Amino acid sequence: MIRYLLCFLLSISLIHARSQFCQSDSSIRSRIYKDICVLASDSLQGRRSGTAGEKKAYEYIISSFREAGLQPLGTECGSYLQSLPFQSLDFRFNQTKLKIDDKIFGYFRDFSVTAFSGNGSINGEILDIGQGISLAFSSYDDYKNIQDCRGKIVLMNLDVPSGLFSVDSLKEKLTPVYRIKTALSKGAVAVIVWNFRSPFYQSMFDFIHTDTLNALVIYGRTEVVDYVSSHPGGKVILSVKLNRTNTTFHNVIGYIDNRAPYTIIIGAHYDHLGFSRKSEIRYGADDNASGTAAILELARHLRSSGDKSNNYLFIAFSGEEEGLIGSSYFCAHPTIDLDKVNFMFNFDMVGRLGCEGNRITAIATATSPDWRKVFSGTSKQSFRIKKMRGAPSFSDHYGFYSKGIPIAYLTTGLHYDYHTPRDVSGKINYDGMVSIIKYSEDFISKSEVAGKITFRKVRGWDQFTSFASFFFEELDYVFNVGLQGAE
Ligand SMILES: [Zn+2]
Repeated sequence: MIRYLLCFLLSISLIHARSQFCQSDSSIRSRIYKDICVLASDSLQGRRSGTAGEKKAYEYIISSFREAGLQPLGTECGSYLQSLPFQSLDFRFNQTKLKIDDKIFGYFRDFSVTAFSGNGSINGEILDIGQGISLAFSSYDDYKNIQDCRGKIVLMNLDVPSGLFSVDSLKEKLTPVYRIKTALSKGAVAVIVWNFRSPFYQSMFDFIHTDTLNALVIYGRTEVVDYVSSHPGGKVILSVKLNRTNTTFHNVIGYIDNRAPYTIIIGAHYDHLGFSRKSEIRYGADDNASGTAAILELARHLRSSGDKSNNYLFIAFSGEEEGLIGSSYFCAHPTIDLDKVNFMFNFDMVGRLGCEGNRITAIATATSPDWRKVFSGTSKQSFRIKKMRGAPSFSDHYGFYSKGIPIAYLTTGLHYDYHTPRDVSGKINYDGMVSIIKYSEDFISKSEVAGKITFRKVRGWDQFTSFASFFFEELDYVFNVGLQGAE
């Protein structure tokens, strides 16, 4: 009797181990349906990074990783989480103002707050200080004809004379931060910088790596600069209100260790945009609960797969919508040896098969010469595949590509609900997702036949043309539709 009972229990446990996740189309469909409905539900409030909605989302992903049998491979021992620090910004539109004489300038339209800026309100006369360069030992001194900077709001051109910039010993003195500090040390009370052609332009908005100078530092566009040059000595009233809050984002990382020499990273961002300005939830069902559900389902399949020629690392990234924060952080602080990564497989918006006809886009196909063979060997599905060679920087694959890792990246493309409260679970093509997941699983297994995937850097032109063609093709969506819903 005991023997029969043991046999019975053993057979039950074997059945359980093999068919814990039934792989029929209808079973896959019902699991991803549940995943997306949970992730894009009201209670997760749009899964904005660093919020309670993010926490609910990562708790759901952790329980799914655990259920699938993945090992935790976050930062702390025994944890699936990798915590990363982030400074979130809250621009107060109605409290940030610029007026010169009687002319009122529009925030964002005519000027922006730079990453160097503190908060406050200030009045004073405008003074053009050119490039604000003052080098004691050379003839370059923008201050030599300026009587007095004290109490002035100064206008500074970000550019520098190219001859000077090639002198290594001068580089630090030519940086905007040095020149802004010089102006403040001479008594200026606020700084308006300008010139988007300057190589320093981008750095003015690097909020992640820049500390405030505790002075008001704004960027003035053409309207402001033109007004100042035709109205020297104009009376400025400037107010800036920008709340910076230190917060923590969380990547979720699970591992299938097959004791293989290389690891395939399978990733998708799970964060979205939270509430709209009208306080509506932006659900992000396609962007990117769909990709998250796809990697959860692949985890369930690959855990029980007989193919052990690679290990698999699953990462649900946070902070993608804030600027690829989670994936960049992982690449800088990886929890496995990146030299042992075979390739990275990214899923971002795979829930709207049909929105661009019956096709999906495979991005970054030029990042390995091996992809041609893998794509042609992968079993065909009902959809067509459009290949885009380059690896443009609009999703989480980019940090891995920059580290010399081959990329495969699938998407069903942009649509009119992108970044709006209309990106809901009811509009997902679940049958389409089932075929994309099955295709991806077969793609992975064909890549295993190919062995270690070889990396190839995409030539600049290819990268540019892919990026440009993507945006020209999607121009309607990005500029006419997507941004209406975005903030
Ligand atoms: Zn996305």
